[in-house]
Amino acid sequence: MTSIPHHTLHEQAAELDAADEIAFARDRFVPMGDGENAVQAYLDGNSLGRPLRSTQRRINDLIEGAWGTRLIRSWDEQWMDLPLTLGDRIGSVVLGAAPGQTFVGDSTTVLLYKLLRAAVALDPSRDEIVLDTENFPTDRYVAEGVAAETGSRLRWIEPDPAAGVTGEQVAAAVSERTSVVLVSHVAYKSAWIADLAEITDVAHSAGALVLSDTCHSGGVVREDLDTTGVDLAVGCSYKFLNGGPGAPAYGYVATRHQGRLQQPIQGWMGHAEPFVMGPGYRPGEGMRRFISGTPPVLGMVGIADTVDLIEEAGLDQIRAKSTDLTRFVIDAIDSHLAPLGVGVVSPREDRRRGSHVTISHPRSREVCAELWARNVIPDFREPDGIRLGLAPLSTSFAEVATALDVIATVLERH
Ligand SMILES: *Cc1c(COP(=O)(O)O)cnc(C)c1O
Repeated sequence: MTSIPHHTLHEQAAELDAADEIAFARDRFVPMGDGENAVQAYLDGNSLGRPLRSTQRRINDLIEGAWGTRLIRSWDEQWMDLPLTLGDRIGSVVLGAAPGQTFVGDSTTVLLYKLLRAAVALDPSRDEIVLDTENFPTDRYVAEGVAAETGSRLRWIEPDPAAGVTGEQVAAAVSERTSVVLVSHVAYKSAWIADLAEITDVAHSAGALVLSDTCHSGGVVREDLDTTGVDLAVGCSYKFLNGGPGAPAYGYVATRHQGRLQQPIQGWMGHAEPFVMGPGYRPGEGMRRFISGTPPVLGMVGIADTVDLIEEAGLDQIRAKSTDLTRFVIDAIDSHLAPLGVGVVSPREDRRRGSHVTISHPRSREVCAELWARNVIPDFREPDGIRLGLAPLSTSFAEVATALDVIATVLERH
């Protein structure tokens, strides 16, 4: 027995699935097992996206083709330029960036370091980094390290944890001492969508740069980096871009800054002429200089097909489905799970909410463990949150209804 009237929730889900304009995309993914061990509901695509079927073929093709038989020649034939060509695809489809401003390589953490360090070095008279306490841990830790290394000060904004950083808060924090404002487009805990156009205007008025972390927005929320005037950005390719565990991150540097920024990990692959192997470092043209060492080609194989799929489905349709999915979750929580002590921590206003919903319950940790045991996969977030990630290309409403059902059953036992 559960407190959810199954028929209504599941009927509603069936109707929404039937009306889903991008439902075709779900068949492109590798199935989540069968029989007893099959995953009933995967609500963690915001942490590790599911693989596309085509990725399986591409990895095999790489092993038999470019790697297995073309061997070292593949560097000249395709891999040397891959960080930039794949970067341009991500830039064009996901980031709203004209060519020549995006590259792929390193982890998000390392790219954050490279771009933040470069931004801070730009103007030595500016000795403050502005960031907020709702940033993802790695972002905060990297900023701490860069501050220590450069003698900068971290100027913290403390947003409402159920919402996120606002333009007003940034306006109050920036000054002629600010080098850069580090902000997540979508907050990893609450799913708050920061108003990047406003934040960028405010930061620019103070002469500061903006570095946007798009890990939780890239592929589900329109970025429009070129039009909002964001200076720098990084993002993950293993979340909504389904690149696979450890797939490399992407970095964006607006054309106007490329010549003046000096990134700190100057390696041979970012050199103007890597194969001359000369005595000193000379940065390459454009985005080439932001590359450090040999790019992780195996980790890049899975990214391009999702970018193609995003283009095919359309970012607006993806965003619309994402909003419907998160709205479906919030409505169901309000009507069925609130009496069991579940609260909604994410923004209720659709346009301020990314593609996950964080709920709270005092026993979230135990509940989450039990959900995993029942093949319903969200993630637990300290101290009492459960994040329900909705990946519009792969998540069905039926899956979400199942998850909500199981959550109700588990809660009733607790
Ligand atoms: C997932 C995520 C990261 C992860 O960084 P890695 O270097 O890939 O481990 C960083 N920042 C944010 C906001 C994230 O959501």
